[in-house]
Amino acid sequence: MEFVPGTTPGLVCAHHHLYSALARGMPAPPETPTNFLEILEQVWWRLDTALDLEMLEWSAKLGALEALKSGCTAIVDHHESPNAIEGSLDVIASACEEVGVRVVCAYGVTDRHGPEGAKAGLAENERFIREGGRGMVGIHAAFTCELGTIDAAVGLAEELGVGVHVHVAEGFNDAGSGAALARRSKANWLLVHGVHLPDGIELAGSLAHNPRSNMNNGVGYAHPSRFNSNVVLGTDGIGADMLDEFRLAFVKQREHDVLATPDTAWRWLENGWDLVPEAKEDTVTWSYPTMEPWHLAYTTGVHPLDVSIDGTKVLARGAVTTIDEAEVRAKAAEQAARLFANL
Ligand SMILES: [Zn+2]
Repeated sequence: MEFVPGTTPGLVCAHHHLYSALARGMPAPPETPTNFLEILEQVWWRLDTALDLEMLEWSAKLGALEALKSGCTAIVDHHESPNAIEGSLDVIASACEEVGVRVVCAYGVTDRHGPEGAKAGLAENERFIREGGRGMVGIHAAFTCELGTIDAAVGLAEELGVGVHVHVAEGFNDAGSGAALARRSKANWLLVHGVHLPDGIELAGSLAHNPRSNMNNGVGYAHPSRFNSNVVLGTDGIGADMLDEFRLAFVKQREHDVLATPDTAWRWLENGWDLVPEAKEDTVTWSYPTMEPWHLAYTTGVHPLDVSIDGTKVLARGAVTTIDEAEVRAKAAEQAARLFANL
């Protein structure tokens, strides 16, 4: 019998951090983090501080390459590199362009590095978008921002006619500020996590659910089916294998409701096309014939054979055609060693 591979449009990762692709294998932090805030302080805020633009370039290329090889053709990225802010969104956009993956960039504005840091973050969002970059205005999270900074970011997004991309109520420490941010939200916003948002909250825009990250950080379950908003799926920086994230989203929902069907998590995956509609025109040919939720929920290891983005074949028989994969991996390993030495 002849094997007929299944096809889908390009998948969308609705929340990614391409800057974190080099983080795997990083040295253990000086103190073992015991809660979510300590994980931020001991791991991510040490890592982002140590980044320069060269590390970022190869981190983004590696992340984009891995997305492509997972059938993900569009990434909605949220970036922070407090010691290399200016030009950072260009570096990410160029890296993705070279690999051939679509990207929507945002710089996560924060007051963690004083008012100058917040200003520089706002300026990077503004510069990138005014120069024609595809982006949203990023805010790290309400709990690391002064109210004035949040207002400035919201105002800038309105002025530029784009949405805001912001972490909301990921951990207990951000539970209080989440509702206030949700109240300001507009239809073009992307709110990420919402784990500790209260029930019945009015949420405009999309809510990005990142089940693997939430489990990894021990922050709890977001129960995304309780929201009326457009729920989308992200990885929060742990790769861009969206079929895998779909499986996790399903089984996590199932853990809390054994009547849950994979159709819900599949719809969350498909909702990503509302954020990057062009990805729907991309084509992925898979190693499995039946690309539908009940099959994929219980079939692991499904991988793309061919990927076409915007009419160009970027993956052929599992091999990337746009960039030298071995070189990307080698350069990324070199930059990871530099990054670890900087920590
Ligand atoms: Zn995130």
